[in-house]
Amino acid sequence: MSSFLQNTNTLIDHAAALVGVDAAMLAALKKPARVIEVGLSVAMDDGTKKTFPAWRVQHSDAVGPFKGGIRFHPDANLDEVSALASLMTWKCSLMGIPFGGAKGAVRVNPRELSRGEVERVSRAYVRAIADAIGPEKDIPAPDVNTDSQIMAWMVDEYSHARGYFVPGAFTGKPIELEGSQGREVATAFGGFVTLREYLKQASDLSLASGDVTVAIQGVGNVGGHLAEMLHQGGFKVVALSDSKGGLYNPDGLNVATLLEEKKTKSNAPLSDMREAADKKITNKELLELDVEVLVPAALEAQITEKNADAVRAIVVVEMANGPITAAGEEALIQKGIEVIPDILANGGGVVGSYFEWVQNLQRFYWEEAEVLEKIDKVVTAAFHGVMRMKKEHDMTWREAAYAKAIARVVRAMELRGRREEGAPL
Ligand code: NAD
Repeated sequence: MSSFLQNTNTLIDHAAALVGVDAAMLAALKKPARVIEVGLSVAMDDGTKKTFPAWRVQHSDAVGPFKGGIRFHPDANLDEVSALASLMTWKCSLMGIPFGGAKGAVRVNPRELSRGEVERVSRAYVRAIADAIGPEKDIPAPDVNTDSQIMAWMVDEYSHARGYFVPGAFTGKPIELEGSQGREVATAFGGFVTLREYLKQASDLSLASGDVTVAIQGVGNVGGHLAEMLHQGGFKVVALSDSKGGLYNPDGLNVATLLEEKKTKSNAPLSDMREAADKKITNKELLELDVEVLVPAALEAQITEKNADAVRAIVVVEMANGPITAAGEEALIQKGIEVIPDILANGGGVVGSYFEWVQNLQRFYWEEAEVLEKIDKVVTAAFHGVMRMKKEHDMTWREAAYAKAIARVVRAMELRGRREEGAPL
């Protein structure tokens, strides 16, 4: 079993013990309801065929249909998808929305494929899982290396199989295909709201001073939008990075100019930008900067027991899924560094997806301000719920978040009479 899945199961063990869950229920909480493993046979532009391993793991539908993104990545594997599916269950539960958890992945490097090949991989994936998904069953969304165009192809393929357009089968779609206003920025916005609420209660003086410094690892959908929001919100974003490395300026980076240039240069590395002279840093150095807020917003397992000692931030906000290992967090806590866990900090994304799905079911659409206001309310309530739990039981943020999330799913399973491991619906 991979350390990421092991970490996730350890979190469940730990929170279940805090909530008081028996062994049968604990086993049920860890076991996915369904695992789909397929090989996608796809025609390449040169006329050959290639097979790509792919998965959909449906972890829990105790409180609503399965929900979770699809990632395209050369290192994707079943353990990783299973861990991410489990995280989705706890995230949706914590946000109080009527969704369970799932995740999908294709082991592919989309950068090595033409756009046409990526489209054929996307459509083949949907054909392979079509019977298991749908607005009432399992609603996929974008994740690493998948975007609204890919969701457009996927919803088209699914609708073709059903014989009519079914927008509620996927979220993260383009606006023209009944996507939601605000969905693209929803994850980052949830992170912004979480940090705003965190700072209101923080006792550390340098956090209350107003000129809060932030370093963000990853400037994709999540990290990029969050950097812009924080910059506009008066935070001093001093460091940003992508997979090729990062930029650092202690006086604050010109976030808008940098990200605009990156966009116009087809997502070229930050280190190739005009502003980059004398400010290049590695991803390792970014994590170790002397900043108030550190935001890992790229991939999992970025802070481990190996580098946690070098982290100097006051608070780490997990915008990626699983960016800190259990041992890494232990070391951070020992140093007095607080960690706002992924299921709370990046929960705004799935809340945005939830509102997209609600609008799709009603075929009635809201303006961006209304969507963001609704996301703000849900994330703020989740934050304060976790904070109350943390204070009452003297827990870490993660313990409190998982305890709350698990308690809701356990209660639903008890009410539905689904107590044994793998019990059928
Ligand atoms: P993305 O593909 O848009 O961006 C990923 C970013 O990380 C890019 O800037 C990339 O260059 C950078 N990166 C990749 N490898 C790196 C490395 N080794 N070191 C440093 N940077 C690296 O992905 P995204 O949608 O922004 O997702 C980022 C994280 O947030 C993932 O963990 C994802 O599961 C999580 N997440 C995403 C959403 C969402 O709505 N997109 C919601 C919740 C959680």
